[in-house]
Amino acid sequence: MKKQITLLCLAVLLVLSGCCSTPKVKNVIYIIGDGMGHADLSLLVREQQSPSDQKPAVKTASFEKAQAVGLVKTYSANAEITDSAAGGTALSTGKKTNNDMVGLSPGGDTLTSVLVEAQKLGKKTGIVVSCYFIDATPAAFFAHAPSRKDVWEISRQFVDSDIDLLFGGGMDVLTTRPDSVSLIPALEEKGYAVYSDWSEALKSDAFKIVALPKSGYVYERPENYLPDGLIKATEVLSKENDKGFFLMVESSFIDGYGHRNQRDSLYEEMVDIDRTFQIAMDFADTHPGTLVIMTADHETGGVTLTYNGIEFSTKGHTATMVPLFAYGQGAEYFGKVMDNTEVPKIIERLMRGQRIEQ
Ligand SMILES: [Zn+2]
Repeated sequence: MKKQITLLCLAVLLVLSGCCSTPKVKNVIYIIGDGMGHADLSLLVREQQSPSDQKPAVKTASFEKAQAVGLVKTYSANAEITDSAAGGTALSTGKKTNNDMVGLSPGGDTLTSVLVEAQKLGKKTGIVVSCYFIDATPAAFFAHAPSRKDVWEISRQFVDSDIDLLFGGGMDVLTTRPDSVSLIPALEEKGYAVYSDWSEALKSDAFKIVALPKSGYVYERPENYLPDGLIKATEVLSKENDKGFFLMVESSFIDGYGHRNQRDSLYEEMVDIDRTFQIAMDFADTHPGTLVIMTADHETGGVTLTYNGIEFSTKGHTATMVPLFAYGQGAEYFGKVMDNTEVPKIIERLMRGQRIEQ
């Protein structure tokens, strides 16, 4: 009788645990196209599958292979049209804040990013961006500042972040500071190999890397920078690590070319992010337990495809919802209309193996 009761209890426990959990996501690759809207994706498809060639479409954009597609609302706590600081904070912490604020609530409370939640689970973490590493979107994943313009404070907070890998721009922010104290020795003391040479960084066998090959606020960067950076980051973060990783990758200049209304450069950035998404999906195919997300913080430029070709309706951001593409383990939970604050919450629950309402 006792044995039967024990078996019954065990069965109840198994049923309960089964209905309250999902398989844990091991690795997360979280790609953000700053300023990427629906028309930017349509531009990519139109250019690559041009009907004017009088031949069938031959090239499938990588994002067309996503296993789930969502729509994301982007408004901030104090504005219908978000900036990258509030947008990044929502996508990283799951909380709305005011425009210009990074990693803080409108009242100034410190918010915890999903990257930090990944660290608490023992995962390695990385950030790969094409902009300055202290710019609003990357900063939202590791810093807390009343204004995105507090670049000296944001860069100092990176030193304390324990993020394993950082690729981006902004070496000058580390070295040329108001107090004349370079942050490089502090990073080296924490075990980072620091590079300003991109080819050296790609050859590095270090476990903790800061590579900032761009200096000055320029859009130029090494060829294949984002795809190569993603491949190198997954290699570094997977090395001798069975707990997995959380990696944020930002294609930063879709936004900039949207602001400038520069069609051709915008298209090149879309080609770049789409290739990066493909590489992330390839990694997921060969590394079970990997979730890939690609979304945006907001749309920029009010891009439309008209009879006259591509047209811009603004030099600023817009309030339109942005697309989200998901691939790999847990992708099915993102196929819906959601608030931007939901995205990191779902990622966190998946990393913890917690059940998700659909
Ligand atoms: Zn912008």
